Amino acid sequence: MRNLLYLYNLNHKNKYGQVNSYNLPDNIFHQHLPMKTIEIKTLLRECRYSQLPEADRKLVDAAKEATKSSYAPYSKFQVGAAILLADGTVVTGSNQENAAFSSGTCAERSACFAAGANHKDVPMLKIAIAAWTCGAFQRMPISPCGACRQALLEYEVKQGAPIEVLLYGSEKVYVLESIAALLPLCFTEF
Ligand SMILES: [Zn+2]
Repeated sequence: MRNLLYLYNLNHKNKYGQVNSYNLPDNIFHQHLPMKTIEIKTLLRECRYSQLPEADRKLVDAAKEATKSSYAPYSKFQVGAAILLADGTVVTGSNQENAAFSSGTCAERSACFAAGANHKDVPMLKIAIAAWTCGAFQRMPISPCGACRQALLEYEVKQGAPIEVLLYGSEKVYVLESIAALLPLCFTEF
C-alpha cells in the first residue's frame, strides 16, 4: 500500500534539516506494486471566535480561563481545556508539569479524567482547548497531542456518541465533529 502516512514521514525533516528515511528500501513505493492507495480525510470547519454560537464561545472562554491554573514552569506553555457534559456541567483542566517529565499531564487529559472521575457516565458533548504562551493566546488553533487524542477517544467510544472539538486560536478556530476525526486509524479494539 502506498500509504500516505509513510509519504509524510519520508518528507519529514528532522531538526537538523535532514530528511528522515526510516531505513525503508528505496524501491518501496514503486508504482508497479500490486497495492492500492487509500486516502484518509479529516474534515474540519474554520471560523473566527466571534462567529461561534454563544454556547461555544462560553466553552472556549472556560478553556481560556483554565490556562490560568496551568502549572508549566518548564515549557511556559499554558494549556486549558473545558469539557461540556450532557447535564450542562463544564469540567476544566490544565497542563500540570513535573520535574520528572513523564509524571505530568496535559490539559485535555486533566479535564477528561476529572470528568470521568467526578461525573461518571455523564456523556461528554464538547471539548474546547486554548493555549497561552509568551503573554498571549496562541494565534493558530491548538490541537491535542497523540496521547490525549487516544485518551479522549476512549470516552467517545465508551459513550457511543461523538465529542465535538473546538480548537481555539485568536485568529481562527477549528471545529471538528469528533475525537475520531483527530485520530485516523485509531486503536479501539481491546
Ligand atoms: Zn496531550
